[in-house]
Amino acid sequence: MKKKIRKINQLLIEHFGIPPKAKKLPDPLNTIIGTILSQNTNDQNSYKAYRNLKDNFKNWDELTLLKPYQIEKYIKVAGLGKQKSKAIYELLKSLKKKQKRISLNHIKNISDDKILEELTSYNGIGVKTASCVLLFSLDRNICPVDTHVHRTLNRIGIVKTNNPEKTFYEILNKIPDGVAHSFHANLIRLGREFCKPAKPNCPQCPVNKNCKYEGKTINSKSNYKKNDFMLLDNLS
Ligand code: SF4
Repeated sequence: MKKKIRKINQLLIEHFGIPPKAKKLPDPLNTIIGTILSQNTNDQNSYKAYRNLKDNFKNWDELTLLKPYQIEKYIKVAGLGKQKSKAIYELLKSLKKKQKRISLNHIKNISDDKILEELTSYNGIGVKTASCVLLFSLDRNICPVDTHVHRTLNRIGIVKTNNPEKTFYEILNKIPDGVAHSFHANLIRLGREFCKPAKPNCPQCPVNKNCKYEGKTINSKSNYKKNDFMLLDNLS
């Protein structure tokens, strides 16, 4: 599997380039809140919701002085306001109760497995959100799996799974050193721009020759649309 991942990563870089990384690693709390906001919406809307919180509050502690429904009005642009405000509120409250302060700095020195275990123990935090913290805030060689990464990896034939969480665990520890960030970001671009859920644009796809998908299209029209704004590389 490592060899296949290396090959696909190389083809994606040849086509899309090396995805830019944030100059300074974002604070783990910024990433976890940004990722909660990103569920089931696009990066532009989750970024607006994230900015509404950042621009209206001095720090994350201030949110714990509100009730979830009061947080909801700042983030409604990202959808699922009730669910997301509850997850953010409960996470901040739990951190305050457990550590007497709102911070995730303590995870910087612990193993990937322990971080996954700890973060997923909070209500509303799943494996995808926890793995985004590992990749984007701690620069660990971990590839978060969203619907795009799950779909493309299955179609290409790197895994054969029926949900993103299983895909995540299949590829965990099989990513060649140092490639997780580019592999993750470029698979998302592949899924958004070529390997769409319906009518993938296989004729123009940069990994066509290495893809095992039986339903490959032969004559699809060009639907190429550059889509490279990545929320989690833009959090500060
Ligand atoms: S060849 Fe088609 S199915 Fe395979 S990854 Fe590319 S767009 Fe997706």
